[in-house]
Amino acid sequence: MGISTTVMKCKKCDLIFANPLPIPANIEQHYGIPPESYWSAEYFKIRDDYFIKQIQTFSDLYGRTNDLRALDIGAGIGKCMIALENSGFEVWGLEPSNPFYEKALQTMKIEPSKLQLSTIENAVYEKESFDFITFGAVLEHLYNPSEAIQKAAYWLKPKGFIHIEVPSSNWLISRIANFVYKLQGLDYVTNISPMHSPFHLYEFGLKSFKENAKKHHYSIAHYSYEVCTTYLPKSLNKIFVPYMRATNTGMQLEIWLTKN
Ligand SMILES: [Zn+2]
Repeated sequence: MGISTTVMKCKKCDLIFANPLPIPANIEQHYGIPPESYWSAEYFKIRDDYFIKQIQTFSDLYGRTNDLRALDIGAGIGKCMIALENSGFEVWGLEPSNPFYEKALQTMKIEPSKLQLSTIENAVYEKESFDFITFGAVLEHLYNPSEAIQKAAYWLKPKGFIHIEVPSSNWLISRIANFVYKLQGLDYVTNISPMHSPFHLYEFGLKSFKENAKKHHYSIAHYSYEVCTTYLPKSLNKIFVPYMRATNTGMQLEIWLTKN
């Protein structure tokens, strides 16, 4: 309470970040107690198409999905682990939040030996253990996403792929919101939420990964933008959704990395 920070955007690589970066004394302050609304019966259902598009993209890039090892970083209650397992992967997971970890074991019946209660920073796996590593809605929460990518690359087999889903720093709806703030003479921006839920510390552009790839010897194998929700009235979506699709200004950036 009473602490503020500045939200900045790198003109070279489109990364949006907080400067200074606020870090809680204990990660549980931010992620330990999820709201009860998380635990609706609906939340535990896995839709038939859950993570299928991503598994298809992996299959297109790699050639197959059976007899391969996958790692889900930020496994939550384990939905993605189950989807991967159903597609033939042998799957491990990492989850830093105790309530999610407990639900994964108790409700979703994830094998305890497959899921570690750990942050990526503290996790240990052997070099080149996995063919497919996925960070779904994770990197924007980490204090040092670049280090997390390097760690995942160390765990990745030479021909494997890292899949990342992050909020795009080029989202049209944020730009409109920021423009409305500007019209009111305010210096606010809607991007990131370092001090409140959902605790997004970063938004990323394609260039953020291109610049990072140069430093850390990986390549971008594939990328796409997803429009997701626009938060606009339905009647406007008819115009905005196709426009955002055509201009790569959707909410989410999906990116696939491979080692050089
Ligand atoms: Zn930059």
